[in-house]
Amino acid sequence: MCEEEKESFTDKMKDSYGRTIDYLRISVTDKCNLRCKYCMPEEGVPCVAHKDVLTLEEITRIAGVMAGMGLKKVRLTGGEPLVRKNITELLRQLHAIPGIEHLALTTNGVRLAEMLPELTEAGLDHVNISIDALDPAVFERVAGRAHLQEVLDGIAAAYAKGLKVKLNCVPVRELNPDEPLRLAGMAKERKIDVRFIELMPIGQGRQFTGIPTEELLRQMEEVYGKAEALPYDGEGPAQYYAFAGFAGRIGFISPISHKFCAECNRLRLTAEGRLKLCLYYKDGIDLRELLRNGAEDNQLQEAIAQALLQKPKEHAFGVKDRERTEQRRMNQIGG
Ligand code: SAM
Ligand code: SF4
Repeated sequence: MCEEEKESFTDKMKDSYGRTIDYLRISVTDKCNLRCKYCMPEEGVPCVAHKDVLTLEEITRIAGVMAGMGLKKVRLTGGEPLVRKNITELLRQLHAIPGIEHLALTTNGVRLAEMLPELTEAGLDHVNISIDALDPAVFERVAGRAHLQEVLDGIAAAYAKGLKVKLNCVPVRELNPDEPLRLAGMAKERKIDVRFIELMPIGQGRQFTGIPTEELLRQMEEVYGKAEALPYDGEGPAQYYAFAGFAGRIGFISPISHKFCAECNRLRLTAEGRLKLCLYYKDGIDLRELLRNGAEDNQLQEAIAQALLQKPKEHAFGVKDRERTEQRRMNQIGG
């Protein structure tokens, strides 16, 4: 591709609201080894046929095509990305793509400790680990499986290895109301970010009640003292706070109460190859179909650039619009 052509596609990574889109979250599977109550039903979900899931080569091709348009960061998620066969090989292939500067993973941590050496060797540099409770009984109640120790081992291993570690907890009134306070304490000794994500009314999440950010912050200040709001660090949607004597930061991601759509820089790719423009809406394009029908790189780029122009200005959680809203569950979208 000539320089001029490259530049015109880089421009096309802007959406119609002037936002630069340089971040792709890739769901590599919708299978999972946990059953978090707000995410997946206990009986699991109907299996997507193997042939319908993007192959490693197809995922790498899409990431490569988008890197040619200005993509800089890729995050693998799921379902649980560490249950996907050959995930390390996928990381290695993505790491080799020129232009992709950051390779991250969002995981429940169950298989992290055992897989960490191969993952870091393949190029992983950031890891977000989801953990909703430190009390073993509460963990099992939320996650449906007694795997707390494995998750703690994963966190310890990632931290010891020097990876940038962020912990994510979804506070839910009916499931883990006392855990956010205890989890926040994990940032006291270790330089890790502990973040609290507002429950979104997607899939199983519709059956539960999230705990508002203000309430959590108040609880934490009662125990850990006054929190200092930190200036925006230019990375992602979290608002961070510092507590005196804490090595790490406490963050709040509040898509419902504090919309951050104006700064949105992301697209999502589902395991079946649908490029999603916004978490809330089902709109998007079927890249798998294009790929399997033999589209050339420039045709893929054109289709992606056109889709980007349809990226909505903002989500509309709270508005009932079955026609346009996403009906998939979070394990299918990737969170
Ligand atoms: N299995 C991996 C994990 O749990 O980190 C990756 C996929 S999971 C869908 C990604 C994130 O989405 C997790 O932090 C999970 O807690 C969060 N999540 C799932 N359902 C949610 C919901 N309804 N609202 C907010 N966050 C949700
Ligand atoms: Fe699995 Fe992650 Fe959903 Fe929990 S949140 S059920 S770990 S995909």
